[in-house]
Amino acid sequence: MTINIPASVGMPVEEVDTPCLLVDLDAFDRNIDTMAGFMKKHGLRHRAHAKTHKSSDIAIIQVERGGAVGVCCQKVSEAEALVSAGVRDVLVSNQVVTPKKIERLAALATRARVLVCVDDLGNVDDLSAAAQKYGVTIECLVEMDVGAGRCGVRPGADAVALARKIDAAPGLKFAGLQAYQGKAQHVHDFEDRRGLIDKAVGMVRDTVELLKAEGLTCDIIAGAGTGSYYFEGDSGVYNELQCGSYIFMDADYQRVKDDKGGFIGEFDNALFIYTTVMSKTKTDRAICDAGLKAQSVDSGLPVIFGRDDVTYIGASDEHGVISDPDNKLRLGDKLKLVPGHCDPTVNVHDWYVGIRNGRVEALWPVTARGMCL
Ligand code: PLP
Ligand code: MN
Repeated sequence: MTINIPASVGMPVEEVDTPCLLVDLDAFDRNIDTMAGFMKKHGLRHRAHAKTHKSSDIAIIQVERGGAVGVCCQKVSEAEALVSAGVRDVLVSNQVVTPKKIERLAALATRARVLVCVDDLGNVDDLSAAAQKYGVTIECLVEMDVGAGRCGVRPGADAVALARKIDAAPGLKFAGLQAYQGKAQHVHDFEDRRGLIDKAVGMVRDTVELLKAEGLTCDIIAGAGTGSYYFEGDSGVYNELQCGSYIFMDADYQRVKDDKGGFIGEFDNALFIYTTVMSKTKTDRAICDAGLKAQSVDSGLPVIFGRDDVTYIGASDEHGVISDPDNKLRLGDKLKLVPGHCDPTVNVHDWYVGIRNGRVEALWPVTARGMCL
């Protein structure tokens, strides 16, 4: 079997094979520092979301250099992969309901601090049985639907009933609330986004009070992403934020506006799909080697970085179509694409090629690539 590595350390970037993921390490470092600075200034914990990168190398940097308390994963298999590589504190920010995965989650808790989200009373019994079988404690966050229309119980009485049951369940610890407003993150208008998070904050605040009245304290009040973290961070209610995309950014996050009508400016594009012009048979078009199998286009097509003379206009399985009205591109030319949506793009690659000063400095495997169990 050949190992599918597009580069080697020390190689000039121009020689890196394509299509592959490039990480601009200077931009990456700035993103780590910017987020760490925000959390420190506001006295918040950051539990970086590893669904974005699925990389143990990056998770460990987020903890060791970026001050994160641990990471979130969306899948048990992601959590297993990161724990095996040395990550010690993982929240599976999702529901775990199949018997096989519950068993794996409990087994994982013998090796690391493990937390999970819960939105069902019966699930509490199943998690409790597995935790007792493995002699571990699984920390549970009651997940509330605060407007995203996804998982989560209704805030208020339903959340309190679930917290009470977790608190009484052997092998489980009631650790707090998960209140992620996923629908707000990519809302482009600043005030619209703020309005959605204000509503979420109100629901969380009320539920925290109800829990307090029952003697149930929330160590963790969690949520937030790259599009909204400053709202939750300023709320005085949330204490643990879960930003993911900030580490890389993507073309759609670049369309999300800040309070001055500009685009989110605090984070830099650090992730690119590196691609080569593989066919140039027409004066006004070029075909590159990054198509649908090199990226996700659910949030729009990629944007060609640093070029306003050429535009990525279409993707088929293995081909990208580039409009080249001034006939600038030549066969073999290389371009950097900013992916429309970073998280699902990463999931179809084996390696990150980290670049600094024009040369390959790091090769990081996408540790949990394709892991969806
Ligand atoms: N928290 C949860 C539960 C998520 O599902 C996500 C992403 O979808 C995030 C945090 C991170 O969001 P973002 O990548 O927008 O920072
Ligand atoms: Mn995403």
